[in-house]
Amino acid sequence: MLNVSDALKQIIETVAPTKPSMLPLSDSLGCLLAEDVISDEDSPPFDKSMMDGYAVCASDLQLNESSSRDIELTIIGELTAGQQSELKVESGTTVRIMTGAPIPNGADAVIPVEQSKLLSEVKVSLHIERIIPQGTNILDCGKNVRQGEQVLSSGQRIRPQEIALLAELGRASIPVRQPPTVAILATGDELVEINETPGPGQIRNSNATMLAAQVAATGATPIVLPIAKDQREDLRAKIEGGLQCDFLCLSGGVSMGKLDLVPSELAAAGVQQIFHKVAMKPGKPIWFGKRSSSESQSSCYVFGLPGNPISSMICFELFVKTALRKFQGEENPFPPLIEATLQKDFSQRGDREVWFPSYAEIENGKVVVTPTGWKGSSDIRSTAQANCSASFPAGERIFTAGESVQVLVWSGSRLNPKL
Ligand code: AMP
Ligand code: MG
Repeated sequence: MLNVSDALKQIIETVAPTKPSMLPLSDSLGCLLAEDVISDEDSPPFDKSMMDGYAVCASDLQLNESSSRDIELTIIGELTAGQQSELKVESGTTVRIMTGAPIPNGADAVIPVEQSKLLSEVKVSLHIERIIPQGTNILDCGKNVRQGEQVLSSGQRIRPQEIALLAELGRASIPVRQPPTVAILATGDELVEINETPGPGQIRNSNATMLAAQVAATGATPIVLPIAKDQREDLRAKIEGGLQCDFLCLSGGVSMGKLDLVPSELAAAGVQQIFHKVAMKPGKPIWFGKRSSSESQSSCYVFGLPGNPISSMICFELFVKTALRKFQGEENPFPPLIEATLQKDFSQRGDREVWFPSYAEIENGKVVVTPTGWKGSSDIRSTAQANCSASFPAGERIFTAGESVQVLVWSGSRLNPKL
């Protein structure tokens, strides 16, 4: 049976990045850039003052032997941000200048207003305590970004600071790979909607709402379909509906039970199986495939997630999120695993690697992790006290406290400092 690492590789090989589209910058938060960004401009576009103060000729302010000096200069004008002026600063003169204003001709340093004393409308005394090099408190034209320089790379995720940089450079619209639409289809004769009271033998469809939240947490758009019965016609019709999206995540019906019809109905709908079953716990029955595009339909990637809530959740975190990252062109789509030190002994048994619900936190700058008291694939309650899965390779052995393990932090969770 496939192991997790090979399953991840197969997903990454199968999923192709979606085509780029132009998007207004203001709508691009969370998208991935679809091309390298080369600046057509210098930034800042002019030499500008970093301080409110006085624009001077640095050569006027030399200290010679003394350790400090007060220097009197004649004020020839004032410049605020957004103004342009013909003023020329010469030896013995200064221009009063505000932060962000262009440096006037002739000036090559700015002395902060805090070091000044106004003597009259046109005279100021500047207190100098150290050598003032040329360029003091001036941000040179092109200091931050040079025309022709690459400032962002294809595949980078757009956060508020990337938006600021692109806005600064005048990119009002940009090519991005947009988050996909993800259809969610829960299957099972035993399922009722979450606002219904289950009858005998029935349970609520908790997976669909959970998976929709997991999809939304990635920035993609979830589309929850009505529950499908364990019955070929109903399942098939709902699968066809879900295949209209970029991704389809089914839950349930992928094991070996009599009514586990999902693999055969996916095949009948033209979805090619890439793999079925991964040697892991929870999540062994997971199914992955692709329906290729044709003239009348675009391609769709399909995950058959096991019905047990924890299995569904962890398979989503490991596999579906990897596929979503690849689809959006992320440079490294593999799950962001981190090293953590085990806090208590963990006994591993069996031929499947375990992704055990655990609590990771930060202690003395390092990540430490404690497995929770998880009772098995349906015990979603124990995950409420957990924030990650810790991975234990297949085999028979005790992992002792102090050993290093890998953890995957779940959607909506974060690592807190240990109290
Ligand atoms: P299955 O994978 O269909 O064999 O289901 C495995 C277990 O998960 C069964 O106990 C189901 O009742 C349960 N289950 C299946 N689908 C859901 C769902 N949408 N929400 C919660 N539990 C489910
Ligand atoms: Mg079922």
